[in-house]
Amino acid sequence: MSLIRKNIINTTAYIAGKPIEETRRELGLKEVIKLASNENPLGSSPRAIEAIKKNLSGINRYPDSQGFYLKKRLARAFNLKPFNFVLGNGSDELIDVIIKTFVEDDQNIITADNTFLEYGIISQINNRKIITVPLKYFKYDLEAIKRRIDKNTKLVFIANPNNPTGTYVTKYEFTDFLAGLPEDLILVLDEAYDTFIDVDDFPGSLKYINNRNVIILKTFSKAYGLAGLRIGYAIARPEFSAYMERARQPFNVNLLAQQAALAALDDKKFLLKTKNTVLEGKKYLYSCLDAMGIAYLPSVANFILIDTGKDCFGVFRDMLKYGVIVRDMKQYGLNSFIRVTIGKKKENERFIRVLKKVLYK
Ligand SMILES: *Cc1c(COP(=O)(O)O)cnc(C)c1O
Repeated sequence: MSLIRKNIINTTAYIAGKPIEETRRELGLKEVIKLASNENPLGSSPRAIEAIKKNLSGINRYPDSQGFYLKKRLARAFNLKPFNFVLGNGSDELIDVIIKTFVEDDQNIITADNTFLEYGIISQINNRKIITVPLKYFKYDLEAIKRRIDKNTKLVFIANPNNPTGTYVTKYEFTDFLAGLPEDLILVLDEAYDTFIDVDDFPGSLKYINNRNVIILKTFSKAYGLAGLRIGYAIARPEFSAYMERARQPFNVNLLAQQAALAALDDKKFLLKTKNTVLEGKKYLYSCLDAMGIAYLPSVANFILIDTGKDCFGVFRDMLKYGVIVRDMKQYGLNSFIRVTIGKKKENERFIRVLKKVLYK
């Protein structure tokens, strides 16, 4: 008999985007670019870096367990109260905290089948049943999800926009979905890419925080360029947030992450530059892919899902040899697709050059 819990044995580990350093080491390459994890290609806000330097001498102390200043700052930014926020070691941790806080042994969780893999992995580690509903035209099929809700369903995870497709649920679809949901069901809206949205019909989710069972997840990992520090947050009403606070580690968010996040929130200039870089890069990549006759999904996020028409792992591996790291979608069962993060101009140009080499070789 194994000493390891069954659901750990049955869990497939999360496969992360390949790190730059590992690629250099393994392939003996000098110039490697990573367009695989939807990180900020411009780096981090200079103000955040300044804040980190300033606080280095404080790391002998435990961080503020309550995240007092950051919650206060977030409350101001969203016109809510500090107790509406729960901080996490990345929003990844908050997915775990939410499952631990709300889902009993015999209850289930619903999400889409081609979405952020952590919902499934963390459900399984916690021994909770996860039901995945196929996307429809690469979008969350909220009607089908609604049909799958049963008396044991406690949580529904919706990544909006969705990763890896870059598609989104509109405000009309969302309002329809909200109507007639069971009262004992909690909806988690994972808005990791909200900063990049440039459409008018994206749902304004904040207005539901205090009157519906809605929890919003956001992160500093993408637009704010702090992925390496691990910090995200949940927005929830106090009856929820108070209990979520019990399910987390007491010092889950480190001092430097809290201080960097505080500073990054004040750096509007860096955020704007990031948005513009992504929007321009997206236009450029669309036009190149159109010219090449390659199918892709229009994206409201900072990445594009591309159908290479070939075995995606082969494309990933071949691009790697030229020092370009993308994400192959094998783990998602999208066998001819790669996901590319929009980078700086030079990076996007190199991506297209290498993609041509690899596809037309
Ligand atoms: C990147 C991402 C996250 C989170 O990341 P953290 O780095 O853990 O904050 C959460 N959800 C989705 C859909 C993502 O793509």
